Amino acid sequence: MTQPYLLLTPGPLTTSDTVRAAMDRDVSTWDADYNQITQQLRADLVTLAQADCHDYAAVLLQGSGSYAVEATIQTALPRTGAKLMIAVNGAYGRRMAEIADYLAVPHVVVEIDETKPFALPLIEATLTRHPDVTHFAIVHCETTTGVLNPIEAIIPALHARGLITIVDAMSSFAGVPIPTAALGIDYLISSANKCLQGVPGFGFVIARRAVIAQTAGNARSLALDLYDQLATMEAHAGKWRFTSPTHVVLAAAQAMKELQAEGDVRARNQRYAANQHRLAAGMQALGFELIVAPAAQSPIITSFKYPTPDFDFAAFYAFTKAHRFVIYPGKVARIPSFRIGNIGAVQLADIERLLTVVAEAQAALAPAAG
Ligand SMILES: *Cc1c(COP(=O)(O)O)cnc(C)c1O
Repeated sequence: MTQPYLLLTPGPLTTSDTVRAAMDRDVSTWDADYNQITQQLRADLVTLAQADCHDYAAVLLQGSGSYAVEATIQTALPRTGAKLMIAVNGAYGRRMAEIADYLAVPHVVVEIDETKPFALPLIEATLTRHPDVTHFAIVHCETTTGVLNPIEAIIPALHARGLITIVDAMSSFAGVPIPTAALGIDYLISSANKCLQGVPGFGFVIARRAVIAQTAGNARSLALDLYDQLATMEAHAGKWRFTSPTHVVLAAAQAMKELQAEGDVRARNQRYAANQHRLAAGMQALGFELIVAPAAQSPIITSFKYPTPDFDFAAFYAFTKAHRFVIYPGKVARIPSFRIGNIGAVQLADIERLLTVVAEAQAALAPAAG
């Protein structure tokens, strides 16, 4: 079916016709065929994370990505004798701190400017001041701005210090290669509706088996007990605890096949990067400045400054939407901005068409002369 517009947003995003068609079937959560689809998906997710099923397990959890983040934090942190350090350079890092507040999980925040990536020295210096920290959490791609935090430089050092490491790779997993085992990541979190290119409805966590095995009884809520969710999936060969989002899982299984057919994460990463490079160059040529320096820019989403203080984003948005492109408002605290996503079933030709539409919008929305 033809879609009314293309979503240039960081998820839910534009999915393929075949991913949407895969949902056109009712299945029973008690059926072995369906549970086998869950098991295959779990195994494929571990492989995608560059980890081994003996050492890591994929836990799928109903809800949006934030549910998986909240489940991870409350399951990973023991109720006593533990402290979480959270690296914050955007809204999603801040959300983890808010989750820790709600759960009354002891935590310290290390915060930097939203437009910059983290570097290891600041994190190590903060740890030295807080020697009681046991767990560390960071966002990989801060979708707030599009900044990519260099987890490959940060996580191995913290893992070597004996910290349990949590990475919110919601918007980067399956779009940026992540060597989970080699880096020493204990919990890697993402969801169905981002670079996997499925539809919204569940999140997932790739957890180190030896670490999550120690977390029985930690969770502060029943429905978000990641330990129990995993125990049920393992004991009953892929059966979900509580009602499973069956149609969403069918879509995710199809999305996984399409990712493999595309040539895996490396090929998808190249497509996204080509989209991002063309978008950034084309928008700059039209007078839109970037917020994130190219060295820290992810291939996932790009933030642009308003070109003038009186830029009418609502009119700009309405124009691009009428021309079949839905873009995204900005989220940077102190810089008026908007964002354009580079992910989903989006090709270079789509970006070229968007740039033409943006040029038309500028001409149509320019204040009349005189
Ligand atoms: C999308 C996203 C989340 C989760 O958001 P939901 O709206 O709960 O799906 C968390 N972290 C990052 C970095 C994200 O991009």
